[in-house]
Amino acid sequence: MPDIVKILPIEVSNKIAAGEVVQRPSSVLKELLENSIDANSSKISVIIKNAGKNLIQVIDNGNGMSRKDMHSSFVKHATSKINKIDDVFSISSMGFRGEALAAISSVSMVEMASSKHDENDGYFIEINGGKIVKENELNVDEGTSIKVKNIFYNVPARRNFLKSDFVELRHIMNVFHNIAISHYGIEFSFINNDEEIFFLKKESLKRRIISIFGEKIREHLVPIDEKTQIANLFGFILKPEYAKKSRSTQYIFVNNRSIKSQFINHSIFSSFEGLLREGFYPGYFLFINMDTAKIDVNVHPNKTEIKFDDDQHLYSIINSAVKHCLGIYQVTPVLDFEKDSSMDISYNHVNSDPKIPTIEVDSEFNPFKVFNEENFMKKNSDVELNNTQSDIIDNSSSKIFQIFNKYIVSTSTSSLIIINQNLAHQRILYEGFLKSIFESSSKSQKLIIPFEIDLSISQLILFKKIITDFDSLGFEYKLSESLLTITSIPVQLENNSIEEIIDEILNDDIDFDQSKNLSYSDFFAKKLSKSSSIKSGKKLNLDEQEFLVNQLFSCKEPNLSPDNKQIFITLNKNDIENRF
Ligand code: ADP
Ligand code: MG
Repeated sequence: MPDIVKILPIEVSNKIAAGEVVQRPSSVLKELLENSIDANSSKISVIIKNAGKNLIQVIDNGNGMSRKDMHSSFVKHATSKINKIDDVFSISSMGFRGEALAAISSVSMVEMASSKHDENDGYFIEINGGKIVKENELNVDEGTSIKVKNIFYNVPARRNFLKSDFVELRHIMNVFHNIAISHYGIEFSFINNDEEIFFLKKESLKRRIISIFGEKIREHLVPIDEKTQIANLFGFILKPEYAKKSRSTQYIFVNNRSIKSQFINHSIFSSFEGLLREGFYPGYFLFINMDTAKIDVNVHPNKTEIKFDDDQHLYSIINSAVKHCLGIYQVTPVLDFEKDSSMDISYNHVNSDPKIPTIEVDSEFNPFKVFNEENFMKKNSDVELNNTQSDIIDNSSSKIFQIFNKYIVSTSTSSLIIINQNLAHQRILYEGFLKSIFESSSKSQKLIIPFEIDLSISQLILFKKIITDFDSLGFEYKLSESLLTITSIPVQLENNSIEEIIDEILNDDIDFDQSKNLSYSDFFAKKLSKSSSIKSGKKLNLDEQEFLVNQLFSCKEPNLSPDNKQIFITLNKNDIENRF
């Protein structure tokens, strides 16, 4: 028997490892942009074609590379940024693993042109699947241009795995937003399918945020600026009224590197306690600068995760700094009785004027006013009410009744069916929406007062990609520049959560399932049915209960909610007898 254990050729092992670094076009963009930033560029242009599937190009005016550097930059673990292992733990550059270009070039076609400041001749290299196929001298401007074409052309399984242009472009926008916000001192341009979407001059952080998200965000920006021994915080917190149902405006940067951190999110979220409606998340652009020795960004090749030596302290610092800044801008009462006295943050109270407390009296208050149940129900329609005795059985004389304002109980000859009213209604609406999408037979209702959504530049680009689905659902709207005016909505919609839904679709990190060929129509239908369904806690009259049960059982899939939750349970005689 011949020996069978072989060492993989370098192209093959690179291709396998590439999966870690290059997941999709946006990860290529991130690596290229970080390299340009590390090369001290002051101007960077991004060119994207077909959501990055055909082309991702980054052109910078940075340090450039010599001919030899260009050759070695494609070799794995080739980097100019660290020399010894200790350096990995005190990173100040964006890149450091020397993996990105090796990985990218092993799964795509790369063209690189570069010229160094002190050398007047430029050079060009073309690499396909990790191998140099062409190289020559080329007169180019100082700096570097890297084109990454046909990503995953040689890994068909991964190429097929790419999502719709809409989803991939949204990821690309996210990467661009993150880098452009954290490097507001750099000029950026962004061209998508030959259309210039952004031209961002060197500007302040505040201006940069406004350039990206639009003028409307300005009045919601509350500056945060706190210096402590552990970390310096600065940036902007968005006022509670700007809170969204998605986490789309939560940006955290540690030493200018965009990171994700649940504990930081949680820390800020809890500073907003009492200021947010249920299910809403605050927005922020928080920059944390701290000693590089106290963090480890080397947790994952994507480098978006980070470990802090002292996360408990950091948690409290962020928590009180955010409370402080909301307090100063009178977004929240300044008094905080729960403040942990062990925390030593030097707030600058000395120079600020004391505030005179105000007392508010509700002159309308009448303790003898009759309790209005209907109003109460309206106010509490989202809240699960206590199961007081009277709630448990409402219409005991009929075969169908509601319990706990949450379930509908229906009896058949052999069993008892308990239906979750919210999930049942979601299913009914969901099938209705899907039907209207596929049959293009949706019905609209005119809004008495049209409502307007001012889309940001990126949202607008993305919105244009889903416009046909939007039409087929029964929305009618006008789009003039970035202002979306919705004049009609699908008949099934009762509430005004459309703005939130649109916001979520355009910002969230949701991957649509393309295998079912439903993509975002399906997502739309799910979202709309969830938000406009009858909630738990809503009292239903007998007609409504019957309607719901009949509709549910004429659905194609009455057992499961759109999110695959069980809609009802059945208890037959045996089940009941077994309980005794
Ligand atoms: P890393 O950034 O981790 O060092 P990369 O594979 O991303 O690894 O890049 C390898 C090397 O190529 C970098 O260390 C840098 O020296 C060089 N390089 C890559 N892109 C650029 C660029 N735009 N300008 C100048 N040098 C670059
Ligand atoms: Mg790099």
